[in-house]
Amino acid sequence: MTAPTVTERGRLTALRAAWLFDGTGSALIPDPLVVIDGGTIVAVDSGASAPGGADVIDLGGAALLPGLVDTHVHLAFDASADPVGALAARSEDGVLEAMTRAGQAALRGGVTTVRDLGDRDYLSLGLRGRPRLPTIVAAGPPVTTPAGHCHYLGGVAEPNEAGVRAAVREHVERGVDVIKIMASGGNLTPGTYQHLPQFTPEVLRAAVDEAHRHGLQVTAHAHAVGAIADAVAAGADGLEHVSFWTEDSVDAPAELIQLIADRQTVVGATLGMVPVPGLEPPPAIRARRPLMVANLRRLYEAGAPMVVGSDAGIAPIKPHDVVRYAPAQLREIGIGQAEALRTITSDAARVIGLGHRKGRIAPGFDADILAIDGDPIADPDALHRIRAVYARGTAVPMSSGSWRPGSPAGTYRRGGAGSNGRWTGSS
Ligand SMILES: [Zn+2]
Repeated sequence: MTAPTVTERGRLTALRAAWLFDGTGSALIPDPLVVIDGGTIVAVDSGASAPGGADVIDLGGAALLPGLVDTHVHLAFDASADPVGALAARSEDGVLEAMTRAGQAALRGGVTTVRDLGDRDYLSLGLRGRPRLPTIVAAGPPVTTPAGHCHYLGGVAEPNEAGVRAAVREHVERGVDVIKIMASGGNLTPGTYQHLPQFTPEVLRAAVDEAHRHGLQVTAHAHAVGAIADAVAAGADGLEHVSFWTEDSVDAPAELIQLIADRQTVVGATLGMVPVPGLEPPPAIRARRPLMVANLRRLYEAGAPMVVGSDAGIAPIKPHDVVRYAPAQLREIGIGQAEALRTITSDAARVIGLGHRKGRIAPGFDADILAIDGDPIADPDALHRIRAVYARGTAVPMSSGSWRPGSPAGTYRRGGAGSNGRWTGSS
């Protein structure tokens, strides 16, 4: 085969700004220049001049950081007061439209990569790789029991070893990136109970074994103490929520905290919420919340790996770009701001299997870049003053505008989220 003698090279784009957080460090780098070729970062320098012929975009006093990574979202839930009812009323085309709107809202808020941990009927898989959407890692419908948590999403398995193995194999054949299993009941599904496991330990172990046999990681939705313990014992790679929910309170045994840390099971902390005036948590959550925060702190101090999964989509306080509200809550757990930024960039990317190309501003990484006004380490609120977002090298329009490669976008500020919504801390 003869190689072409001339290679047409696209124009380089060079982003200039005042400061850079690269996704792994603890301090800002001054006077950065980030050179982008198509969708990929090819050079990152401080105080350098742009390569000849590059389109230079000067973002003035802005700080650059990697596009944010949310490890737990639901694109199919529309962040309304009744996301389950709204989803049930939609046709397949309607769901896909809503998921597209959700993905675009995420992008406008600087979230350039999401792990969807529960769609309906595998619809998120077809959205992977689409332009004008975040990079999507997809679980398809969560594996659950008949009438179990989120059964209406289409992932019901017979609650025995053969049943869950068959369900996992179907997910593999469909091409999912990760297996999500509902180890306990959940808040969004009446008739299920957060304080009770849904599967026996043996069945949970079979599901994890089948997924691992096919090279897929498993993350388990687990509120109940027993469900958390069973999921860790079964070898699940990650846990979602980890609230240690009991019928009356929460109860996190020291041995279980230590086991999670020893096994290095990833804790997906359900954090990030947009303050909605007039929307108070229900008493069941209000009473437990200080204990849940204290237990996350115990997990963190014990050395358990921790990332943020916002559960975006499940309520008005959880719009699809909500993860940038998580650092303020991570502080309550004792996590400093630079580490919080790593948690929602490079750490999150590694946990979802994209640590080689997401979550860092470095040569060879995807050109997913968030430009904000202010210092994101000194001032967590700076994350909400978005000046521009680039997804795989393309500027994200901040409204319904057109997509033009390399064009800077206007400042975006969130409007009011409304006050009529139901308060839901997690699904
Ligand atoms: Zn969820």
